[in-house]
Amino acid sequence: MQPTGNLHIGNYLGALKNWTKIQYDYESIFCIVDLHAITVYQRPEELRAKILEIAGIFLACGIDARHSSVIAQSTVPGHAELSWLLTCITPIGWLERMTQYKSKAAGQETILSGLMQYPVLMAADILLYQASVVPVGDDQSQHLELTRDIAQRFNSLYGETFVMPETKLPTVGARVMGLDEPDKKMSKSATGSAHAIAILDEPTVIRKKLSRATTDSNPHVDFETMGLGVANLLAIYQAFSEDSDEVMRNRFSGMRYGDLKKNVADMVVAHLEPIQQRYREITADPAYLAGVLAEGGRRVSPIAEDTVRLTKQRMGIYTA
Ligand code: AMP
Repeated sequence: MQPTGNLHIGNYLGALKNWTKIQYDYESIFCIVDLHAITVYQRPEELRAKILEIAGIFLACGIDARHSSVIAQSTVPGHAELSWLLTCITPIGWLERMTQYKSKAAGQETILSGLMQYPVLMAADILLYQASVVPVGDDQSQHLELTRDIAQRFNSLYGETFVMPETKLPTVGARVMGLDEPDKKMSKSATGSAHAIAILDEPTVIRKKLSRATTDSNPHVDFETMGLGVANLLAIYQAFSEDSDEVMRNRFSGMRYGDLKKNVADMVVAHLEPIQQRYREITADPAYLAGVLAEGGRRVSPIAEDTVRLTKQRMGIYTA
């Protein structure tokens, strides 16, 4: 998760909610990717504060720091180190094809090379820990495919080294769309004031944003002909409530849009309020959060060091 902008319900439903559920099935590592954040200029003070904010949100949402490691990417040097080693075997053409790179680079006068290298750093984040499963939202599927391509290329050049990671998408909520522009992914960088619902938005703000969400010209919910905006509102509700398709149809078929929005707002607020309460409690003690990150870094470092050493040995780089 990048420590930029405000984490929103797309991040929550696409990633965080799933993470809290599956964390005990694995040895889990949740990484706040500050090295990724600086592929676009960040104000240093804001970035520093954001890292702790994200750690607080992780814990408030239910990441259990006693079981799972929560780390700030830059505190484990293996991320940057492995990223360079992998850069040296990654064809530029593979990076130029990435849709996220193309959309972020579009219209920029100066394209920083870090923006293009972003997916290699992400491959390093994953391969560094020999991760078998990577739970992400749908927008990261292409980067995961690239990670597998890089691992495969490395393994065939230098011998079996990296575990092939599997992508794990949530069944509902894998792609939450913008409330104002339901044909675009809900994103932290979008500027519309009613585009995204932040995890830390006040209930009154959440209700206001949802009341302004784009719908369509139908008078009420019709599952056969609904537009993207209504489908998105229903998907948000269902991802929070975990209701079956049948329950959703029975509840919402024929409902007027004003009532639909109210139902969605009640559901979102009911889920986010307790998270916000826990967030306030957790962040009352910043030293605790710093301790969680330090402990996470300590726990994962031996895995990272082993992988970097093995990768260097395979490549013939001098290791003392
Ligand atoms: P990022 O915002 O790029 O740091 O993404 C952090 C995580 O949230 C990744 O696993 C993304 O796939 C997920 N994510 C971001 N935006 C959305 C969205 N609109 N819908 C679902 N998942 C998302």
